[in-house]
This record gives sequence, structure tokens and C-alpha cells, in this order.
Amino acid sequence: MFPAPFEYRRAGSTEEALAALSQAGSDARILAGGQSLIPAMRFRLARPSVLVDINPIGALDYLREDGGELVIGACARDAALETSALIKSRYPLLKEASAVVADPVVRQMGTVVGSLCHNDPAGDWPVVALTGHAKVVVRGAKGSRTIAIDEFLVDSFATALQEGEMAIEVRFPSPGERTAGSYYKMERKVGDFATACAGARITLGADGTIAEASIAIGAVGPKAMRVAAAEKLMKGQKPSRDLSRAAADAATKLADPVADTRGSAEFKKAMAGVCVDRALSAAFARLGVGGVK
Ligand SMILES: Cc1cc2nc3c(=O)[nH]c(=O)nc-3n(C[C@H](O)[C@H](O)[C@H](O)COP(=O)(O)OP(=O)(O)OC[C@H]3O[C@@H](n4cnc5c(N)ncnc54)[C@H](O)[C@@H]3O)c2cc1C
Repeated sequence: MFPAPFEYRRAGSTEEALAALSQAGSDARILAGGQSLIPAMRFRLARPSVLVDINPIGALDYLREDGGELVIGACARDAALETSALIKSRYPLLKEASAVVADPVVRQMGTVVGSLCHNDPAGDWPVVALTGHAKVVVRGAKGSRTIAIDEFLVDSFATALQEGEMAIEVRFPSPGERTAGSYYKMERKVGDFATACAGARITLGADGTIAEASIAIGAVGPKAMRVAAAEKLMKGQKPSRDLSRAAADAATKLADPVADTRGSAEFKKAMAGVCVDRALSAAFARLGVGGVK
């Protein structure tokens, strides 16, 4: 199907994009990689009257470390993360996710920031961003604000972005010493959305116990979810297979999936736990602890 008619505005700068958004009002949408928005428009699930194309804004295409954070600009593609030496050496959680989002063709266009703004309940980047305690920097006519990811991801396909605002970048705190993360996605075939997925990041204290655990799951509820019960039970404990399984059980309890072509609700609920167990096991292995090599 063809999209409903719309006006196309090409923005050469962030200022031009913001001006176009404020002129157009509530019916305008930013066009980033177009990998979610264009299909939605073709199915007439989205009918924006104005599209503000930010692809020409080269100044938003960056991936760099700054002040103890990894900063990903609104025009940085998934493929840039997948091939980045910085991501490979310092951010295994993001590296693993970047290789399994959609397929290589989609990753050439899709953006991390666009995926967060889209907030698909089965999306990979919302889970990674929750696990990594990311923050989204948003700009509008009244200036900039920085929103913690837990507040940014409001509900299925809904974020804290307000009318006239656009997301400029996402910032991930750089992992310190004795910190390791991992992302595990269960998918039917390459290029599919997750049946279930999980991210885990562990920081060990000097005594070898867990100083901080961060765990999130996706595709098993109305939005990506932090598994707060698992984070709490892991804190202060020694990494072990039993602990990983207990965290997985907490994820299974929290998961509230719906049945679809990817599986029954019961199956997906169980798989949420399996994904957490595998992500945690990989994080433990990176730290050389927990009985996992
Ligand atoms: C075949 C296929 C398979 C896919 N499989 C997966 C998958 O396995 N996992 C997965 O996570 N995703 C998957 N996707 C979605 C893909 O990853 C999208 O690229 C991503 O969800 C959105 O990024 P985008 O840059 O293309 O955003 P767009 O499609 O351009 O935009 C998406 C939404 O976000 C808004 N938006 C974008 N950028 C901004 C901004 N800077 N500020 C404010 N609003 C903004 C847009 O207005 C729109 O509402 C798949 C897509 C396709 C076509």
C-alpha cells in the first residue's frame, strides 16, 4: 500500500528540524532511518501530515566517548556500532545487540535513537538502554533536557518526547573496572524480532560480590522492562549458577507476554528466564566468575 499524502521537509540542521516541527504541530514526525516509520506509513498505521527528514544533518552522525559516557547521535546507524572498534573493545553489551537487530540491510539505515523513540515492545535497543542505564538528550523550542531511559520509555510505542521535541543523542555510562555486560536475543531466524530477549550487566565489588546488577527483558510485555526483583536479589551476592537461575526465575515471573506466531504466552514467559540466564552467564564468564568459563 502507498502511504497517505504527506509533506516532506528536509532539515539541514537541528535548528531547522526543530523549526519545522514547531511549525507543523502535533502531526509532524521525524524521519530517521525510516525502517519502522515508513512501513507503518505504508500500512497506514501512521499518517503524519509532515515528515521532517534529519538524515542530512551530518552533525548528528557520531559515536564517541565523552566525559565517561558513550554518546550516540540521532543519525548514527546500527551498522556503525556493529563495525566500531570502540564498541567492540569497550561495550560488549552494545556490540552483541548491534549484530542481531533486524538484518544487515535494515542496520545500514536504522538508528539506535530512532529505535528508542519508536519504543517497539519487541525492540532490541530499549532493552540494551535499560540494561546500560542510558539517558536520552532531547531538544525542543524551550531548550534541552536529559531523560533517564526508565522514564523515557513510557509504554508500547510511547515515549516521554513532547510535541515539538526531538531526540538528539543517547548517552551510556562507560563501564568501569570489574563491569561486564551481555545481550541475548532468542529469534526464530536472522532478521526476525525477538521471541524474547534480555540484557545483563554486572559490577563486582573489591570483595568479589555483586556491587550492582542491571537486568532487562524485552518482547515479553507491553514494553521493555527492568527486572528490579532480580537486580535486588543479586546485590551483595557471589556470582553463581544458582544466583543466575534465581534471577531468571524473577524474569519469568515478571514477563507478561501475549501469544503470537513466535510462540504461546507460556513459552515466551519461560524464554524470558532463559534469556536472562544466558545473558548473565555470559557476563559472569567475561568477569571470570560464577562457575562459567
Ligand atoms: C525487516 C525489518 C526487521 C526489523 N527487525 C528488528 C529487530 O529485530 N529488532 C529491532 O529492534 N528492530 C527491528 N526493526 C526496526 C528497525 O530496527 C528500525 O530501524 C528502528 O526500530 C527505528 O529506527 P529508524 O532510525 O529506522 O527510525 P524511523 O523509522 O525513522 O523512526 C521511528 C520512529 O521514531 C521517531 N524518531 C526517529 N528518530 C527520532 C528522533 N531523533 N527524535 C524524535 N523522534 C524520532 C520517528 O518519528 C518514528 O515515529 C526491523 C525493521 C525492519 C524493516
